[in-house]
Amino acid sequence: RAKALGRKRYALFDETLARNVIDVLAMEGELRQALAQDQFEPYFQPICHLDGGKVVGYEALIRWNHPQRGVLRPADFLKIAEDSGLIEAIDWRMFELSCTHLMRDGAADTFMTINVSALHLRHADFDERLIALLERTGLPPARLIAEVTEGALLDNPERVRATLERLRAAGVGAALDDFGTGYSSLSYLHSLPLRMLKIDRAFVHELDKGANTNSTTVVAAILALSRALGIEVIAEGIETDVQYGALQAMGCELGQGYLMGYPSPIAHWLASESA
Ligand code: C2E
Ligand code: MG
Ligand code: MG
Ligand code: MG
Repeated sequence: RAKALGRKRYALFDETLARNVIDVLAMEGELRQALAQDQFEPYFQPICHLDGGKVVGYEALIRWNHPQRGVLRPADFLKIAEDSGLIEAIDWRMFELSCTHLMRDGAADTFMTINVSALHLRHADFDERLIALLERTGLPPARLIAEVTEGALLDNPERVRATLERLRAAGVGAALDDFGTGYSSLSYLHSLPLRMLKIDRAFVHELDKGANTNSTTVVAAILALSRALGIEVIAEGIETDVQYGALQAMGCELGQGYLMGYPSPIAHWLASESA
């Protein structure tokens, strides 16, 4: 009996494994189809000057208009897109659309940040391709900022630095995303040609708990350091007036978050500006 039970368990385990493999393969197939059928769309979240609230730019965030499941967010598909390598083609489509949309509908003095997956930075021609895309869409390079995470730096910091240098020479800025969540943030700051860094929303979230918290100390330190290095700071994930006020009081200049606006198609922001 024990043996029979054991075999059955083994069979069950196998089935779950097979199920997962099938799910991943099905998702990959769907992602390929989504590319072919143009189901990806950039949503834009405003980046504001905390002093006065003026919208100075947007972060372009991918959404998948899934024919059955509605609007999907990165959490639903990004991992499989990255593991399968499909993220490269998906990102290029996103870059193309976001540049086109910003060029067509964004105010001329606004910039846009795009999320650049680590895989891109392994290609020696990433910067050339991005610059060619800017020429094709007409978006001035100075209006584009490439967001990278520390994860992208891990496998070859020297190559990433060289790529970001070439982008900067062409006028495209770079931002370090999710700052403070990685291992060695500080060591990158002075060696990379960064125009901005984005304070991770985990720190911003903690600011609700009052002035005497570790997060307040960390945020103040990040602001002091970036000021000394001449790097602009964007606080991510601002949801409450208390967080907004605390950041403003500490002299943080730029921020984004649900308090100021949810990510939406760019047409939404046009409508709210003229309203
Ligand atoms: P991220 O680059 O750190 O982007 C910020 C995330 O925080 C976005 O999630 C945004 O919708 C969310 N967010 C903004 N304000 C708030 C707030 O006040 N509260 C909270 N709780 N969240 C807020 P989203 O759009 O789901 O994107 C998740 C991640 O997926 C992004 O994190 C980015 O790393 C990645 N991603 C997004 N778009 C792309 C893309 O086109 N290509 C690639 N490769 N990655 C992307
Ligand atoms: Mg980002
Ligand atoms: Mg990111
Ligand atoms: Mg982030």
